[in-house]
Amino acid sequence: MARAAVPGRLIWRVATVDATKDETATARTLVLDVPGWPGHLAGQHVDVKLTAEDGYSVERSYSIASAADGTRLELTVQRIADGEVSPYLTGDLQPGDKLELRGPIGGWFVWDPSSPAPVLLVAGGSGVVPLMAMIRANTNKVPVRLMYSVRSPADILYGPELSERARVSPLTLTYLYTRAAPAGMPVGRINADVIAAAGWPPDSSPRRMGGSLPAWGAPAPHPPWPPPIPPRPAVFVCGPTGFVEAAANLLVAAGHDPAAVKTERFGPTS
Ligand SMILES: Cc1cc2nc3c(=O)[nH]c(=O)nc-3n(C[C@H](O)[C@H](O)[C@H](O)COP(=O)(O)OP(=O)(O)OC[C@H]3O[C@@H](n4cnc5c(N)ncnc54)[C@H](O)[C@@H]3O)c2cc1C
Repeated sequence: MARAAVPGRLIWRVATVDATKDETATARTLVLDVPGWPGHLAGQHVDVKLTAEDGYSVERSYSIASAADGTRLELTVQRIADGEVSPYLTGDLQPGDKLELRGPIGGWFVWDPSSPAPVLLVAGGSGVVPLMAMIRANTNKVPVRLMYSVRSPADILYGPELSERARVSPLTLTYLYTRAAPAGMPVGRINADVIAAAGWPPDSSPRRMGGSLPAWGAPAPHPPWPPPIPPRPAVFVCGPTGFVEAAANLLVAAGHDPAAVKTERFGPTS
């Protein structure tokens, strides 16, 4: 793990498409084999480079959707209708094709699965991709809450897998629908009420919430006193720039430490 976290000189590697999987009508997962891949942390991304026969090349960043698994890597790409790269990756690329990538990139927006702190994940659209890597890396079954804002049910990425993981592990899902919702559910954007209802409190430490210590010399109660302070939740927010800014502001207004709210913006690659 440490090896992947240490920034080093990144080299371009040739990846082979092993398989593709349609997640929705407009998003596709690419399963890649990347010989020499050094491993990665949940939350990191790669740069993908496509080069035309005339030498013209273009690069875009894509988050890694899979937990570390040898030389195998999954990326999930949302097609942008008038985009230069995403229509190719979600439409033309076929198993057996090759592309260049470099990574893993990013040392801040990463989650350490050995931490016992509960995790709050807030996703807007394809911003769920690096958060899915965190959910998939959660072998210690740390409690995770995912708030996932999508346009409509048809736009949910990884829907069946998320439902199954919520059934068998401490994962709580809250979907927010911004354009069309299932019958009986509201349409709306992320707001303070949703954060309060579906997130973790910023600090649920019993001592900070007014608990008191027993008198000196009194027999130690069982369980041991003081109880362990539940660690502050780890918070990750990812999606389009406007969504990330709105969600991060709401989390800070709800009492989360700004330094503990890690964000990743999926704007156009600079
Ligand atoms: C760190 C990082 C990680 C990313 N991870 C992912 C990922 O896991 N999956 C994924 O699908 N994308 C991801 N992106 C976005 C990705 O890099 C591209 O920006 C996106 O695929 C569009 O590229 P394009 O060439 O198709 O569009 P472009 O030709 O670059 O842009 C076409 C038009 O779409 C707009 N546009 C560009 N990107 C977006 C966007 N993300 N949302 C809305 N409008 C946009 C542009 O402003 C322009 O008007 C990530 C971006 C960053 C910076």
